[in-house]
Amino acid sequence: MVLAADLDGIVLDRSAFYPGGGGQPPDHGVLLWGGVQTRIVDARKGSDDVYLVPLDTDPLPPVGTVVRGAVEDARRTALMRTHSGLHVLCGVVFRDFGALVTGGNMDVLTARMDFNLDSVPPGFREAVEEACNAEIRSDRRIVVSTLPRAEAFQLPDIIRTATNLVPEDVKDVRIVDVVGLDQQADGGTHVASTAQVGRVSVVKVENKGKGFRRLRIAVGD
Ligand SMILES: [Zn+2]
Repeated sequence: MVLAADLDGIVLDRSAFYPGGGGQPPDHGVLLWGGVQTRIVDARKGSDDVYLVPLDTDPLPPVGTVVRGAVEDARRTALMRTHSGLHVLCGVVFRDFGALVTGGNMDVLTARMDFNLDSVPPGFREAVEEACNAEIRSDRRIVVSTLPRAEAFQLPDIIRTATNLVPEDVKDVRIVDVVGLDQQADGGTHVASTAQVGRVSVVKVENKGKGFRRLRIAVGD
């Protein structure tokens, strides 16, 4: 049901739209009401609510309207594959090269991740790509759980980023575990096992300054 609807966005009493976060872009989709459709082209989290941003030429459902939402499945699935692929990349680069993540960004089936890595050995790009795809083929489970903060931070290597980005006031920490490879505090959406990622290509390794390497990946079938 629509609780608010204006140029800032549409607020519903509940919805399955992911508002974006942790580097993962928001869902797109559509709201259906009485034969009318309102296309949703962006979403973001306000202080409490999720704001669904409509295409500006589509009609706004009035407050009180009961709507049915549909998340654009192809986009969401591609973003989940990309996000899980990035965690495989993090796990491999940490395990094999001891490098921590300093930043990252993702879009549909493409992503970049920055690592704190002093030198790049010969064959680095190929080695990382091969190791990622070996982990994908071995079909590791990806398990999401929530732990109290104190307990979460006792897990070894739980914060893969070079700095701890989990705000002080967060009491429960959501953990995404690529079982046996990578455990991170993370708010995004993921596929259920690594085989569902598909195939990761390491497209480029860029040198962005002292100890700062940017890896660009593409996710395919
Ligand atoms: Zn993540």
